[in-house]
Amino acid sequence: MDSPVQIGILALQGGVSEHRQHLAALGVAAREVRTPEALAGLHGLILPGGESTCLSRLLRLTGVGPALLQAYRENGLVLWGTCAGAILLAEEIVGETPHLGLMPITVSRNAFGSQLDSFQGEALVPTVSPKPIPLVFIRAPQIVGTHPPARVLLELDSYIAAVETDQALATVFHPELADDLSFHRYFLRKCGWQPAGAAPDRSRPFLAVR
Ligand code: GLN
Repeated sequence: MDSPVQIGILALQGGVSEHRQHLAALGVAAREVRTPEALAGLHGLILPGGESTCLSRLLRLTGVGPALLQAYRENGLVLWGTCAGAILLAEEIVGETPHLGLMPITVSRNAFGSQLDSFQGEALVPTVSPKPIPLVFIRAPQIVGTHPPARVLLELDSYIAAVETDQALATVFHPELADDLSFHRYFLRKCGWQPAGAAPDRSRPFLAVR
């Protein structure tokens, strides 16, 4: 598959193949990124879920961390962090030192408890899709604060679950583990992708469930 928009998935640790399959379902063949060189020419990069401390260490050891920061600042690379990836992007982590620190958000790790406290839900995210989107939370963080220019896309109960800036997207849940392509489609659009297809149906009522 050939695509004019070049998308990478950070493939040092964590849930890579599910993101690749969702992108493939939209006709985009993603490149797995394990080296600084693999960032060349990318319009967008997904930082998957996994373990943020481990991912952060690997970003440092491989040199991909500084290279992606440079591509973000100098080449307009668009980033999307899911779960651990969102933690990597945050400027502030409660009680810990930040990693890439490029999104104006504060996150609290493992804020719902252990792996056993993982759960699923569904919510309307009007900016992203006219239909409710399934949400999968796995030992998820919470976004507990945002600062301009961050825009909140989804707020649930007492925490924020999805945030964006013009050049970055953070979701504490895992769209790649749900049977729905809305967030991947939305990220591709942020990267300059022009999908073919029908106009969205905006007639569905609001629904938000944790
Ligand atoms: N709890 C993990 C962390 O803090 C994130 C879990 C996930 O990505 N599903 O890094």
